[in-house]
Amino acid sequence: MKPAPFAYKKARSLDEAIALLGEHKDARLLAGGQSLIATLNMRLSAPALLIDINGISGRDGISQNGNTVEIGALTRHVAAERSDVIAQHAPLIARAMPHIGHAAIRNRGTLGGSIAFADPAAELPACLLALDGEVDAAGPQGKRTIKAADFFKGLFETALGPQDVLTAIRVPAAGKDTRVGFAELARRHGDYAIVGLAACARANGKALSDVRLAYFGVGSTPVRAKKAEAALANGDIDAAVAALDLDPSDDVQATGAVKKHLAGVLLRRVARQLLEVRS
Ligand SMILES: Cc1cc2nc3c(=O)[nH]c(=O)nc-3n(C[C@H](O)[C@H](O)[C@H](O)COP(=O)(O)OP(=O)(O)OC[C@H]3O[C@@H](n4cnc5c(N)ncnc54)[C@H](O)[C@@H]3O)c2cc1C
Repeated sequence: MKPAPFAYKKARSLDEAIALLGEHKDARLLAGGQSLIATLNMRLSAPALLIDINGISGRDGISQNGNTVEIGALTRHVAAERSDVIAQHAPLIARAMPHIGHAAIRNRGTLGGSIAFADPAAELPACLLALDGEVDAAGPQGKRTIKAADFFKGLFETALGPQDVLTAIRVPAAGKDTRVGFAELARRHGDYAIVGLAACARANGKALSDVRLAYFGVGSTPVRAKKAEAALANGDIDAAVAALDLDPSDDVQATGAVKKHLAGVLLRRVARQLLEVRS
């Protein structure tokens, strides 16, 4: 199928993109196009105008400042995948990157687009939630920062307003005691996950503290399993699996019951990574 006709404008600045969104109510931002163009081609969406934000300069950097890693919204997946800063200071994101689609998708797709699109089966929204990260947005009222826990509102729904542009994401830089874990089950490598789990914690002797388990593919947003987090902090993997507080619905990939079972399988794998148990 071909997309419905649309107009195209290339924004040269953030202000221009925000102004264009205000002038054209039926417009969409175009970043890497890896999700948007597919929805246009399938006619799931038919905006009158695409506002290309790829010409806005200075929004594709990756930097570490003190305790924080900041990633510009227009950073391509491939740049994050190859970044030394990400590898060293944001190891959870480094582990997740190779699971996002395949190389051609990662060459064009952007981190900002992935977070703004908020696919419930996507890796990066769950990483942002697991890391207790935040999102910078700019809109007609100026700039604001939104915590990950407040950002993902529902199925493909975020706290971004219709005239907002996501400009950057920030996550805490990993410290010496930071532990991360990541695993997903997909039919083929690079497919969207049936179920996935992004996790981080602090090593606290033989136990863990500040355990954060963010599942994806089990609900309309990334979901934390808070009861399992508490059980895992004591180092008891069986208790954590038994405490898994998830209630996934059936979807085209699997029944809710299968997803719940797979969530337990992933928890065992990720718990080993967090506890650094060699099997
Ligand atoms: C075959 C295939 C497989 C894929 N597999 C995976 C996968 O396994 N895991 C995964 O996570 N993703 C997957 N993707 C999606 C890919 O990661 C996309 O790149 C990503 O979801 C969207 O990023 P984008 O830059 O391409 O955004 P676009 O497609 O350009 O935009 C997506 C949406 O976000 C909005 N948007 C984009 N940037 C901004 C911004 N800065 N501010 C506000 N709104 C914005 C757009 O208006 C649009 O509504 C896959 C895609 C394809 C085609």
